[in-house]
Amino acid sequence: MVTSSVVITGAASGIGRACVALFAARGFGVVAVDIDKAGLADLATAPDSADGQSGDEGSPRIVPVVGDVSRERTGDAMVRTALERFGRLDAAVLNAGIGGTLPWEADGALERFDEILAVNVRGVVVGIRSVVPALRAAGGGSIVVTASSAGLGADPGNWAYNASKGAVVNLVRAAALDHAAQNIRVNALAPGLTDTALMARHRAVPGLVEASSRRIPLQRWGLAEEHAAAIWFLASPDASYITGVTPPADGGLTAM
Ligand code: NAD
Repeated sequence: MVTSSVVITGAASGIGRACVALFAARGFGVVAVDIDKAGLADLATAPDSADGQSGDEGSPRIVPVVGDVSRERTGDAMVRTALERFGRLDAAVLNAGIGGTLPWEADGALERFDEILAVNVRGVVVGIRSVVPALRAAGGGSIVVTASSAGLGADPGNWAYNASKGAVVNLVRAAALDHAAQNIRVNALAPGLTDTALMARHRAVPGLVEASSRRIPLQRWGLAEEHAAAIWFLASPDASYITGVTPPADGGLTAM
């Protein structure tokens, strides 16, 4: 039986997947939420999974929940699963997100804007509303949202995504203020360019990785595992006096 549990959204890929591995390795029961059923199935057959039945007594467990984070029923299902499976909820990593901004005047740009806002902003609101009662029941807890450097300053040509992540940064401040008295901390991380499926289209452009890396003080893109480590810190008691902030994890770009 685990002593702590976390729900992680966007768990099937990239930063979320790295968070699942890290939290599970550190003894958390993990409810892994994603709209990508196949990606979660792959997680669920990992050795320490809920369904793998190969973990030793007391080993961490990973329980998949398939769902769209913008839907309240997904929020309800992930919290219910955590409580049924692990008996408590201590933390949430609200990480699911999409890109794909269309040019301002393109056909369908407004519909895409709505889709991006639904996942990146409404999905975080649904997540916070869903997990707070369980965190309160546990005496407090920690919520970490994956924002973006695009929420601290705008990337050209990425207006819809910029807007969504800017909203997340202020949402985190607001949620931190409103839940501080309940001993619930709310923070975000603002990753810069990171080598995940989200960036596959950009990575495929010849020379883009090299050119963009030259602009970054640390001279390279970030790794999902590096962001998972920072998210772990923000979620952990080591960050017990930190709430309402969104530190950049961008190789020094915002320092310029
Ligand atoms: P990714 O595409 O590898 O993973 C995102 C995951 O979210 C996928 O598994 C996807 O299926 C899931 N997802 C998408 N829509 C969903 C929905 N409606 N409901 C449930 N799950 C859904 O991308 P990533 O780079 O790991 O992105 C994770 C977070 O990091 C996102 O919020 C993204 O905006 C943010 N981010 C990424 C970068 C980057 O350069 N990769 C930079 C800054 C911020």
